[in-house]
Amino acid sequence: MQVRNMIELTLFQKIILKLQGHVFIGNRMKQGWKKPLPFYAFKCETHGLVEDYPHGYNERLECPKCDSSHDEH
Ligand SMILES: [Zn+2]
Repeated sequence: MQVRNMIELTLFQKIILKLQGHVFIGNRMKQGWKKPLPFYAFKCETHGLVEDYPHGYNERLECPKCDSSHDEH
């Protein structure tokens, strides 16, 4: 299996991304998960276009590459 780092968006998805800051890209299943979760693409100021699923009660999207900044609040 090849690891894909590039996130490819359709033109429509790019427009949505601009409008609302994130865009649904599909349901993903990760190891250990019982069911797939919705994933969104969004822009991280450091890492550019990244993808993540909503966390916590307020469904925050967090850059998976910025793990260290989880507790800023
Ligand atoms: Zn980041």
